[in-house]
Amino acid sequence: MKFLELAQFFERLEGTTSRLEMFQILYELFSQADKEELGKVVYLTMGELVPSFRGLEFGVSEKLVMEALSKASGLKLSSIQKLYKEFGDVGKVALEVLKREGKGLSVSQVYEELYSIARARGTLDKVMLLINLLKALSAIEAKFAVRIIVGNLRLGVGEATIIEALALLLGDRNYRQLVERAYNLCSDLGLVAETLVHKGLEGLAEFKIQPGYPIRMALAERVADAEELIRRLGRCAIEAKYDGFRLQVHKKDKEVYIYSRNSEPMTEMFPEIKQAIMEISARELIIEGEALAVNEETGEFYPFQITIQRKRKYGVYEYSKEYPLKLFCFDLLYLDGEDYTVKPFMDRRKRLEDLITFRNTLELSDLKIVQSTKEVEEFFEDAILRGLEGIMGKRLDAPYTAGSRNFNWVKLKRSYKGQLADTLDVVIVGYFYGRGARAKLGIGTLLTAVYEPSSDTFKTLSKVGSGFTEEEWVSLKKMLDEIKLDHKHARVDSLITPDVWVEPKYVITVSADEITRSPLHTAGKVGDEPGYALRFPRAVGFVRSDKKPEDATTVEEVLRMYQLQKRVKIE
Ligand code: ATP
Repeated sequence: MKFLELAQFFERLEGTTSRLEMFQILYELFSQADKEELGKVVYLTMGELVPSFRGLEFGVSEKLVMEALSKASGLKLSSIQKLYKEFGDVGKVALEVLKREGKGLSVSQVYEELYSIARARGTLDKVMLLINLLKALSAIEAKFAVRIIVGNLRLGVGEATIIEALALLLGDRNYRQLVERAYNLCSDLGLVAETLVHKGLEGLAEFKIQPGYPIRMALAERVADAEELIRRLGRCAIEAKYDGFRLQVHKKDKEVYIYSRNSEPMTEMFPEIKQAIMEISARELIIEGEALAVNEETGEFYPFQITIQRKRKYGVYEYSKEYPLKLFCFDLLYLDGEDYTVKPFMDRRKRLEDLITFRNTLELSDLKIVQSTKEVEEFFEDAILRGLEGIMGKRLDAPYTAGSRNFNWVKLKRSYKGQLADTLDVVIVGYFYGRGARAKLGIGTLLTAVYEPSSDTFKTLSKVGSGFTEEEWVSLKKMLDEIKLDHKHARVDSLITPDVWVEPKYVITVSADEITRSPLHTAGKVGDEPGYALRFPRAVGFVRSDKKPEDATTVEEVLRMYQLQKRVKIE
């Protein structure tokens, strides 16, 4: 396929306001792509060259792209900068200033060029390669190429929609589950697409876990109290719920790879965990645990803020000396060629206990087998006294359900009077200019939404106007203006029209007093019935860099929280 054709598909995807149409365009694109190139087409559609867990970054700023555009077009840098100021998007600038026909490069050729730019070490090399590429592209091709380079493709195509389009490529949308299963086991849609075209249905059905490819994490449902926990799980395991970083740690011979909850590469951030895993005798291994800083002297857990300071890239080593982390291991997913995700929880746990024998950096999570409400309550009170946020309950005979949230695992959290027991993660889909004191900031309220996986869309749940400092509002406006849209995004379902629509990209955590029914919002709305909304929502913290829009709270979870709040007795 010519890269020009791909760019034309991107134009159509960018212009659509309907999710169904987005699906149809994607299907058309995947059907027309050459077999050999389908993986690359999938990555490029997601604005990537390789899955994000590989941690390959272009390292090319807008400023460098402008320099390259100036050289490739022969225009003065100042003119390019002026246009960038006007459009706020290097893609539009490229479209405006490049006038060549283009050399008709194929998708693979452009992919290789982009790959060389990402791999080049020095800035100078990157710019030279980019100038050459721009000279070979037509304006519309360049528009998308430079957007991919600066990490701002903005097609807004969701993974779920890609999965569905790939399933249809197999002949039936119902193969979605098969495609999804493979994706859950490797977090790499390009690899799934390649498997699908080269090995067909059978190859996909036989898709296996491989260390070095993150498994999409299993998630927990909420329960209201100890009684519901026992009612749902029966005799079960309960564990302390640690408030740290969830990590999935892979060992493959002499290599260790550590991934975040969102499958981001984190190996360099946790040198002490890497070292501890190296010492385990297994050749291949995948385990999960929660990492947090523990005060060596008192044995107390440090607050999450201390743990999260690791996120700063520099001084990791010093930090690991000052605040060493422990990984509280709670699951085993793979061991020396054997897939453990399919085994019952207790089998996995027993094998994990055999592996984690020395207790230092690696510890086992606290676990107790219980069968009565009273035992759960005692364990819960004890956990709260130790400063933990709650407990987890786990079904003894359940497999590890990659990429899904269900009642195999449940969480029971402390609740506060007059407040929802849990926070929600919502996606910003637009904002209002603001009145009064906020008018000068040009932003006063956010329109936020939750995720509905079945339709791969975002349904509005609440306006959020409090919880941020003035500086945070200013940064938010800047961030949102960069992803501003002139129409509602195809995957957003809203009855409210904000002053500015934005691409669903940023997730924030909000707390609220209550979930109420509301005719204004589309979350949980069926026919003429009202939807759901938040009462007195306020933001907690700033934008969650660790969550993708699809990791936001789901509509189903909101319904569940609505039912739970009715049952929780408020003392
Ligand atoms: P989720 O991860 O469920 O989307 P979240 O990120 O908001 O939601 P919580 O809802 O607070 O997190 O709880 C689930 C998380 O608790 C897990 O993802 C994991 O990071 C953490 N956790 C802590 N202790 C355990 C444990 N013993 N077993 C499993 N998970 C644990």
